[in-house]
Amino acid sequence: MSLAGRLAAAHAELITRLRRALDETRPVDPDTELVLRHRWEELPEAVRTPAQLLGRRSAGCEGTHGVFPRCNLACTPCYHAREANSVRVDSAHTETQVDAQMAYLRSVRGTGQHAQLIGGEVTLLGPEGHAAALEAMRRHGRKPMSMTHGDFDYDYLERLAIGSDGRRRFEFLRFAGHFDSMMLGRHGIPRPRSEAELHSYRRRFVEHFERLRAEHGVRFDLAHNMTVTPRNLDQVAEVVHACLDMGFGMLSFQPAAFVGNPKRWRDDYHAVSIDTVWREIERGVGARVPWEHVQMGDPRCNRSCHGVIAGGRWTPLLDDRDPRDLRARDIFLQAFGSMDFERRPWIVAVATARVMAANPQVIPAAIGFAGRLAGRVGIRRLLRGRPRGLTFVVHAFMDAEVVRPAWEAMGRGEIADDERVRAAQERLQACSYAMAHPAEDRLVPACVQHSVLDPQENAALKRLLPLRETTAS
Ligand code: SF4
Repeated sequence: MSLAGRLAAAHAELITRLRRALDETRPVDPDTELVLRHRWEELPEAVRTPAQLLGRRSAGCEGTHGVFPRCNLACTPCYHAREANSVRVDSAHTETQVDAQMAYLRSVRGTGQHAQLIGGEVTLLGPEGHAAALEAMRRHGRKPMSMTHGDFDYDYLERLAIGSDGRRRFEFLRFAGHFDSMMLGRHGIPRPRSEAELHSYRRRFVEHFERLRAEHGVRFDLAHNMTVTPRNLDQVAEVVHACLDMGFGMLSFQPAAFVGNPKRWRDDYHAVSIDTVWREIERGVGARVPWEHVQMGDPRCNRSCHGVIAGGRWTPLLDDRDPRDLRARDIFLQAFGSMDFERRPWIVAVATARVMAANPQVIPAAIGFAGRLAGRVGIRRLLRGRPRGLTFVVHAFMDAEVVRPAWEAMGRGEIADDERVRAAQERLQACSYAMAHPAEDRLVPACVQHSVLDPQENAALKRLLPLRETTAS
């Protein structure tokens, strides 16, 4: 090739690389941006507040369904339909279904969204099947979180994370462990009498991941889930307090609802509200935990507060009573939108620089916010208290008896007369937890999945995957 030809080829190669780098370091993926704009426009007026994250920062959470309905513990209550335990675990079915559901989510909700691998007990899949499902989720731009009861040993986790060739399959794992005293059948403690009796099991769960990180360099992010009923409401504070330093990044509580298998309903679940659970969290933290300044969807469904724990003391990231912090929130949401900060460090650095160049007001806002946060946490705690993020969440599902008529009325384009059903409709419209039905080209709220669709779906799965054989790998 002539010199001129070689120069032209090098120039074309340079242009291609530059274009690729520009695409990679784009702060927000264009598909995701479009999806979020539509989501924002669809939201009911009442939730389109400056605090709202849905449609601005995120499209909401996602979850799988009908992929491994079985569980080997017995919860009271249990959100799974009564047919769930008559369906066998089948890794091939799981992988095919997860792949189809995630591909659909990618096509209608953009990329970089958090998705839960959920629907039964994930570890019944076996390490190979579990790994294949996580890989399918990642392939479609999801950030997967495996939802488990946490009753597995280190060997399982190691075989999930490390392939048979001895190499890491995953650099990073995200798990949510569900621990509460209404779960029966856990190894070593089949009938816990109190939440405190489960603390050593909670700790052991985290220790598996710490060992995996020490031995194989696999990083992790762990959530702790707990169902709350009148039986354990007064123990929430104790669980919060005990878990503050265990290494979880999120403590999430779900007030029980009348949904799933009626044979597993025990108490008057209406006696526990999202407010009462939140008060118990505050009692456990020993501080006010503000939530109204940052909202995901409808406040009757979700509450959350991000914070920092350092030296045993928790501090909220934003002070909701300080107008400067609220202004910093508004600037951040306007400038960064749904930018994904979980990319390679150089990509995040360049993307952040691009945002700052386009929105110079971000720089003084970030400096001011960082200074105020450091003041609230305390410099000594920041330097010596091993600071890390810790978020509190409450997610309150609805009763099946209101979800069904609400969903049916929405299908007919009607607004229900009944106040409770109308409230359910409003919540479904602002839902932040979606499940995919690719064959029907639609998303449904998780409440609808569990209250309306799960029974028939599991009945069909029972015929497709009868219990006589298990093909988990
Ligand atoms: S799944 Fe139900 S409770 Fe959860 S956000 Fe959606 S509507 Fe609200």
